[in-house]
Amino acid sequence: MKEDFYDILGISKDASAAEIKKAYRKTAMKYHPDKNPDDKEAEEKFKKAAEAYEVLSDADKKARYDQFGHQAFEGGAGGFGGGGMNMDDIFSQFGDIFGGGFGGGFSGFGGGGRRVVKGSNLRIRVNLSLEDVANGVEKKIKVKRKVQADGVSYKTCSTCNGSGQITRVQNTILGRMQTASPCNTCGGSGQTIDKKPAGADAQGLITKDEMVTVKIPAGVQDGMQLKVTGKGNSAPGNGISGDLLVVIQEEDHPTLKREGDNLHYDLYVSLPDAVLGNSMEIDTVTGKVRIKIEPGVQSGKILRLRGKGIPSINGYGKGDLLVHVNVWTPKTLNKSQKDFFESMREDEHFQPKPESTDKSFFEKVKDMFS
Ligand SMILES: [Zn+2]
Repeated sequence: MKEDFYDILGISKDASAAEIKKAYRKTAMKYHPDKNPDDKEAEEKFKKAAEAYEVLSDADKKARYDQFGHQAFEGGAGGFGGGGMNMDDIFSQFGDIFGGGFGGGFSGFGGGGRRVVKGSNLRIRVNLSLEDVANGVEKKIKVKRKVQADGVSYKTCSTCNGSGQITRVQNTILGRMQTASPCNTCGGSGQTIDKKPAGADAQGLITKDEMVTVKIPAGVQDGMQLKVTGKGNSAPGNGISGDLLVVIQEEDHPTLKREGDNLHYDLYVSLPDAVLGNSMEIDTVTGKVRIKIEPGVQSGKILRLRGKGIPSINGYGKGDLLVHVNVWTPKTLNKSQKDFFESMREDEHFQPKPESTDKSFFEKVKDMFS
């Protein structure tokens, strides 16, 4: 059982945004790794608090959590929502909570005063067909990454002796004051280049093509970003690699239009088919299917095929496919066709007599969104 996010922060379910922030600040300060060196339990609590805050500070995620609990962030949606925060994510979140001042002197979790150097993130766009979106897909993407060159070696920084910090002691009227600042020579990492091969940059990195496999879950939306941890640029020395951010771009489908998790399809029906009924083939994201058109179908009718839409990214069910019936009327007729329709013009049977089941346009729109 996962612990309740409100319990972790010690607040009630109706806490305001300001109270949530305050509670998190308090909890994070208490369990901060700098204050609790080598204390696994504190680190665990520190991570849990960050995870709770990540969800409760976001109105959207909070609403989902309030409704569905932890399940809201589990299921097939890997890579989204809460869960799996690493220390890096947590520290980057701090900027908002504590204001800029905290950043620089922060030691991270490397022990001592060393900073863990992280490589930069890479961003790449991937085009998906509607079928890919509906079914989920595994894409192999060619990425130009910076990686440590063969033969490069790093050594302990001689300026700071690998601590990553320069400590100064000053005598002031208040007594001896000790201040620490990041080492300028190594940028706080505690390491500098020892040997590097020709072609490597100043950090000992070279650019290489790499094929990265990205698992894209069903239900993603245009503009969404998936994170592949560690597939961005490498960092020099003992640093950790940045992440690869995969931005989703949805391609237009020739006949299906997406609206959230629902799909729309315009079906054109001939006058005889509308009058006599027929079975007709339509496109879906899993191939063509046949649907039945009842005799006397009205133009504007919407047929709802349940579950033939896009799966929800959160793993709750699927959208529907809404088939919009358009009765197609020819613009020109030959003599005998004209005579045929003329003969029916005065026939009482062809005068419109809308029944209560023939919903008006406005009722249909209302239905569609309910
Ligand atoms: Zn240094």
